[in-house]
Amino acid sequence: MIYLDYQATTPLAPEAREAMLPWLSGPEAMGFANPHSPHRPGRAAAAAVDLAREQVAALLPPGGNVVFTGSATEALNLAIKGTARGDGTNVFAASAIEHAAVLDCGESMRGNSDVFTISVDEAGLVDPEAALPDQLQLLAVMHVNNEIGTVQPVERLCERVREHSGYVLCDAVQSYGKMPLPDGPDMIALSAHKLYGPKGIGALWVRDGIAVAPLIHGGGQEAGLRSGTLSPALCAGFGAAAALAKARMDEDAAHVAELWVTARDIFAGWTLNGSAEQRWHGNLNLRKDGLDVARLMSDLRDLAFSAGSACASGSGRPSHVLRAIGLTDRQAKSSIRIGFGRYTRPEDLEDACARIVAAAAAQGV
Ligand code: PLP
Repeated sequence: MIYLDYQATTPLAPEAREAMLPWLSGPEAMGFANPHSPHRPGRAAAAAVDLAREQVAALLPPGGNVVFTGSATEALNLAIKGTARGDGTNVFAASAIEHAAVLDCGESMRGNSDVFTISVDEAGLVDPEAALPDQLQLLAVMHVNNEIGTVQPVERLCERVREHSGYVLCDAVQSYGKMPLPDGPDMIALSAHKLYGPKGIGALWVRDGIAVAPLIHGGGQEAGLRSGTLSPALCAGFGAAAALAKARMDEDAAHVAELWVTARDIFAGWTLNGSAEQRWHGNLNLRKDGLDVARLMSDLRDLAFSAGSACASGSGRPSHVLRAIGLTDRQAKSSIRIGFGRYTRPEDLEDACARIVAAAAAQGV
């Protein structure tokens, strides 16, 4: 099996797994202790959580705090709902290509909030000078799109939103640890499993001085912002993955850039969805008119790649991102996404791409 779905999730780094093991140990080793307990094993677990928080924060701007959550989906919901004005004057805007966690959270607030969508051009980019709604409270704009890999002009949008006295939430799930983050967001959402860390843990970074109301109430953990006992194992895995990503960022990016050139050559006759330049090169979203993607996938069962977004696939709905860049339903349905990263071997990528091209040719497209 050749895994080419790095936007859906990434393999767990061996270093992250190692960091988790002590906190998954049996009764003698005490690694199971509650990090919120004041006794010695509890304090040891709390120290592991503190270290992980520092490791995660080392890739984030100074002047803020990391709140651990169960996923980026939860972090995004916390940011959007937790900063909404509760007096009926809330104004929320999001780019048309945000993840469903943002768009559906925004939709759920209609009725007591004004909710706006900022469109993107056919290259999959938000216009940095796009009109912003009056009284804007929060703009959600992602750094790297998960379906087409385009990099959004977050810094310029942050400058403009600041003039409106609003906040910016940046979904950095696909870019954190892979490229430097943009300056300016007030909140940043992260997910460990897109960064070679474990599933089941994310984080929201919140700039100092921003008031966020909790969504989950209880024991008051995470400074009251997210009650619930933390998992030291998940935190340690996230922290180790972040530290490794920081140390290897240039090496990983160079590897991905080489893979991109290899894959692009093999797919020479295919059309790239989204900007070729302003993108993360570990994402290759391509289309070929007339391609039957379901048939392609069933012909190539030992290749793990995706039709459109992993989140939307299976729903039967054409991707909202491919639609937002102006593709017809047919074009969207004839698109595939190939995602690669740190552990992808060039020979595997070459083999997989050549087989996809051959299987498409056998369909006569
Ligand atoms: N945002 C983006 C851009 C994503 O790619 C994903 C995952 O697909 C999420 C948010 C949600 O992340 P999680 O799986 O941690 O909820």
